[in-house]
Amino acid sequence: MKWLKELDKFLGEREILYKENEPLSLHTTIRIGGPALRTVYPKRLEEFIGLLDFLRANQIPFYVIGGGSNLLVSDKGYEGVAVFTKFLRDIEILTEKDSLIMRVLSGTRINEVIRLGYERGFSGFEFLAGVPATLGGAVKMNAGAFGKSTSMLVKKVTLYKDGEITEIEPKDSDWIYRAFKREGIILSAEIELKREDKEKIREKLKEFWEKRRATQPVSEKTFGSVFKNPPCCYAGALIERAGLKGYQRGKAKISEKHANFIVNTDGAKAEDVLFLMRLARRRVYESFNILLEPEVKFLGIAYDCLD
Ligand SMILES: Cc1cc2nc3c(=O)[nH]c(=O)nc-3n(C[C@H](O)[C@H](O)[C@H](O)COP(=O)(O)OP(=O)(O)OC[C@H]3O[C@@H](n4cnc5c(N)ncnc54)[C@H](O)[C@@H]3O)c2cc1C
Repeated sequence: MKWLKELDKFLGEREILYKENEPLSLHTTIRIGGPALRTVYPKRLEEFIGLLDFLRANQIPFYVIGGGSNLLVSDKGYEGVAVFTKFLRDIEILTEKDSLIMRVLSGTRINEVIRLGYERGFSGFEFLAGVPATLGGAVKMNAGAFGKSTSMLVKKVTLYKDGEITEIEPKDSDWIYRAFKREGIILSAEIELKREDKEKIREKLKEFWEKRRATQPVSEKTFGSVFKNPPCCYAGALIERAGLKGYQRGKAKISEKHANFIVNTDGAKAEDVLFLMRLARRRVYESFNILLEPEVKFLGIAYDCLD
């Protein structure tokens, strides 16, 4: 592939960290995924933007990865460039009065935002405490839990699209359940947290974490919820009622604790996970006439792989 040489030259000249054929299983929370031709780790925003410009100009296939916590990568890997935001971490405080407004870089962990808010007495993201998401991933997925979602905290988003950088103030219509509808790569976002008593924030963190620990396989290798909840009910309850809780294929298993989680018990393959997803989808459809839609994102796997 001609572009590989050109990319290596580009990265080498700019001293941008990259690796060849690194398995993506090292970077997904479910620990599944074959190698990407290149994995690249920009450390500064300008490096990231320069890299995106280069990839775009040369029509090189690429995929942006944050915490890899909602991702299933093919066992064969990805014939392109995986661009990681994990080193693009920064929180700049813009105003601090009744609310705390911060500009957060895309690779910043949500847990860092929660910690900073807590230390200064501001609340907002506690519903995602313990979730290994980055800011970029949480915005893109409109990550949510316990009746709250990322959309409630985002004031502005800086996007890279078609070589242009734009700052937008998202409207309600830009958000849907588990998605931010605007296309582009999220460079940063302005987040607003509200002033709150530290003790109350601590209580909220404890309450949410205990609920999570009681109902989800939080210490196992998963990618969070497999399917979106349909309007009527919980996907997990439907899969459980279809009799699939604990069902195993190879080393992948439908969690005993929560049927909308698939656990990699050790050395599971993407193909095993896809098998379980197809099975759950078919059984739920046959039993309840409801077609579950995946929440997890696929890389190197065809979108219609469940059909
Ligand atoms: C234990 C566990 C618990 C979880 N609990 C929840 C929960 O309560 N609620 C919930 O909603 N989710 C949950 N998840 C799923 C996951 O954490 C969220 O979807 C999260 O928002 C993904 O963030 P990420 O940084 O890991 O994104 P990735 O998994 O790295 O990427 C997900 C998608 O976002 C895109 N993306 C990432 N960064 C950017 C960027 N900068 N610009 C544009 N696109 C980008 C990727 O290309 C991909 O399509 C959980 C996952 C785990 C493992």
